[in-house]
Amino acid sequence: MFEATLRYNSNSDKHPVATSGESLDSLLIPGKMLAANSKALPTNLRNWYDSYNLEYYIQPTLFDFRVGDNFRDSSGSVRTWHWDYATEVDRLLEELLAKQDNVDATDLSANQLRQLTISSVEFQESFVPNQLEAETGKYESISDPEKYSPKAVIPWFQQIRDGRDLKVNEDILDVATDVSELPLKPCLFLTKEALHSDSLPDQLTELLTSRDIDQCFLWIENLDKQETGEPDYERIASLVANLDGAGISPHSYYGDYFATLLSHLGLTGTTYGTMYGEEASERRERRTGDGVAHRYYVDAVKDFLKIPAAVDLQGTVGADMCSCEVCSRQFGTWADLADRYQDDDENIQALLKKHHIQVRWKQIQQVESESLSETLDRLDADYREYITPFSQSNQISNAKTLDYLPRWKNALESVSGS
Ligand SMILES: [Zn+2]
Repeated sequence: MFEATLRYNSNSDKHPVATSGESLDSLLIPGKMLAANSKALPTNLRNWYDSYNLEYYIQPTLFDFRVGDNFRDSSGSVRTWHWDYATEVDRLLEELLAKQDNVDATDLSANQLRQLTISSVEFQESFVPNQLEAETGKYESISDPEKYSPKAVIPWFQQIRDGRDLKVNEDILDVATDVSELPLKPCLFLTKEALHSDSLPDQLTELLTSRDIDQCFLWIENLDKQETGEPDYERIASLVANLDGAGISPHSYYGDYFATLLSHLGLTGTTYGTMYGEEASERRERRTGDGVAHRYYVDAVKDFLKIPAAVDLQGTVGADMCSCEVCSRQFGTWADLADRYQDDDENIQALLKKHHIQVRWKQIQQVESESLSETLDRLDADYREYITPFSQSNQISNAKTLDYLPRWKNALESVSGS
């Protein structure tokens, strides 16, 4: 089974998740969000587990503090969610954040590294069961709170630019292996440049197998599909095949359709946001404004497009209306979707998110039911049908192309030898 994981980033994702639980296998929840929503969120997780068997992981927020300043407000104070997390996890983290800009694992003493690793593992393992017990204790007893524990623990991690960066990840993993009671699922966070090191794949395999770890998340930085070349995609595909060959199940920490395709080479899951969240870089700048453009995920081109662009493209191609539960109920034709464009944010946003979740789920089921060559032939057919309307649409920027579709196909073919 290829695991469909949703990055649950804001409280506005609650409704789309609550009504699409059957189209998801698990959630990835930022630790800071859990700390800041310590009553409602554990209860939601419990309900979703009970009704959909929907499991979850907790993203180690310790990671957020390494670079950038998006965890601080304009006056330099740590933002509420991040501060709630620090308070919940360890006083040491509060102290460090008060006296320095960032917290980088490589700057910590061995004792500090050990302490923060232990407290962040404990936070992941016990926060939800403890909260549930505390909450339900008032009215009823909860028979087995442990069943609401996360699926695995993700120890915090550092970016790997070359083989030398492995050391601090090793130190963290050693401590986590010692103290964790749940299975570990470390995140290997690589730059694109690191992909091209010939020794790294073996070093990564060794990092995990020497600690009896048989699963991991894989995050390659900056995989924007407009800007990622075929050699990068090839390296990713071969890394996945490599890990799979060593008995390790890799799972994309951020993934677009390329990750779904990689299920043919041994990738065992992917993670995406309700809207975007298909790729990311480490450095995040402080946000200004929070306007998120309304974008519609177009299955045939495996990308989000602004609504007028999606409507124009699908109209030119003569595509049938999307058959997902949301679109088939809400929009009879592409023109109906265009009309809804002016709706208030909340309203249309929730529909677009649900549509995206359901389309991604269908894509995964489809790829899983096909052979690699069937999948690639279908990708190729969509590319040929859409290439001209896409490049000629006045609604789509000339800077955007569909070149990523053949790049994905070539990378898979080259690594699989087909
Ligand atoms: Zn739809």
